[in-house]
Amino acid sequence: MAAPASPDSAVKQRIVIENCAIATVDADDTEYAGGHVVVADNVIESVGAGKAPEGLANVVRRIDGTGHLVTPGLINTHHHFYQWITRGLATDHNLFNWLVALYPTWARIDAAMLTAATHGSLGMMVKGGVTTASDHHYVFPRGAGDLVGAELAAVADIGARITLARGSMDRSEKDGGLPPDFAVETTEGALLGTEEAIDKHHDSSFGSMVHIAAAPCSPFSISTELLREGAALARRKGVRMHTHGSETVEEEKFCHELFGMGPTDYFESTGWLGEDVWMAHCVHMNDSDIAAFARTKTGVAHCPSSNARLAAGIARVPDMLAAGVPVGLGVDGTASNESGELHTELRNALLINRLNPVHREAALNARQALRLGTYGGAQVLGRTGEIGSLEPGKLADLVLWKLDGLGHSSIADPVTALVFGPAAPVTLSLVDGKPVVEDNHLTNIDEDAIARSTRAEAQRLARIAAEG
Ligand SMILES: [Zn+2]
Repeated sequence: MAAPASPDSAVKQRIVIENCAIATVDADDTEYAGGHVVVADNVIESVGAGKAPEGLANVVRRIDGTGHLVTPGLINTHHHFYQWITRGLATDHNLFNWLVALYPTWARIDAAMLTAATHGSLGMMVKGGVTTASDHHYVFPRGAGDLVGAELAAVADIGARITLARGSMDRSEKDGGLPPDFAVETTEGALLGTEEAIDKHHDSSFGSMVHIAAAPCSPFSISTELLREGAALARRKGVRMHTHGSETVEEEKFCHELFGMGPTDYFESTGWLGEDVWMAHCVHMNDSDIAAFARTKTGVAHCPSSNARLAAGIARVPDMLAAGVPVGLGVDGTASNESGELHTELRNALLINRLNPVHREAALNARQALRLGTYGGAQVLGRTGEIGSLEPGKLADLVLWKLDGLGHSSIADPVTALVFGPAAPVTLSLVDGKPVVEDNHLTNIDEDAIARSTRAEAQRLARIAAEG
């Protein structure tokens, strides 16, 4: 009988990165001023100070990381990819007025538009160091075809990991909701579509590239029945749950008028607090709301730029972290955050939380901001065993940031340079051990072709929407 293969001979290929600064974002925030990372196939084999161990077999690539910082790949926890082709519209509106202005256009989206928009949204984020993204897609016009399938194919073109939150809306104007009647699904249709997406695409295995979550859109666009049934479906299937919550004062007023309680109490009454739930925004939270999130371990996707763009307010992130609430970062849809970058959200999270007079300069520091964008994201997406920190045995999702160029070279501390400085160039980004960015460009798709197709699809959508 043959001896069991040693771990070393079982490895097909190794990538060695040396001479770089490393921020592991592990439980102790371990950092190395000069260290190495060894990637064995799709997992991290070793991380540490100094050079990589000698005598490693099957090294296919050895990278001199001088002048660079290596971090875990960034994790985006809230987005609406389709909005890439409706950027720059309704630029001076609050949330409700902005939604009412855009719903009629969004209701005309089709599979070709969603493909282009996914390439644009995800391409932009991956180019900036995102390795796992979540997309909340909740617009399913009748006759639009297999939008979930189209989006997942476009994600695979780029090579990132995805949690596709299959959204839905079934409360339209006729039921006291915000969207027009033609923009929503039936309750049954929404539940069936969600179940189909889970059955067809959700992969819960270690290293999965695709998770599906159940994600009714927001209290003002979904029925109480859809919330309750959506939660039951998600828990029956063992998938995570996502929605928007406590985003604006108008939403809070809406909940009090329709349900006789605030958003957090309403979510709790419908089964929507729990460690399998994460919610976008959570701006208007009182002490008892934060305590409820902490008690139930409900996660938060903090979207500082979108909250500023729509004048929604400042989420109480320092209070949430102090209470033990899991918090990640989100770009949000690019119709309310046109830059579409997650790496600049690290800085914006830090700066905007310091504008809250309660905590001021002690609100967040650079390391906390990096943690929000990495490990915090893994927490809210339920994947801390796989991604979010650089530790042996975890998946090889990592970014090599170039910090010796004009934008960063005069800042001594690399994490400070990354968070406080301009958007840092990405020399290399790996997902599952495979390059998705090399020398600041996407490796799997032609960026100029995306630029052309997104422009063409944005123009086609605008034309169709104008025809009515
Ligand atoms: Zn959103």
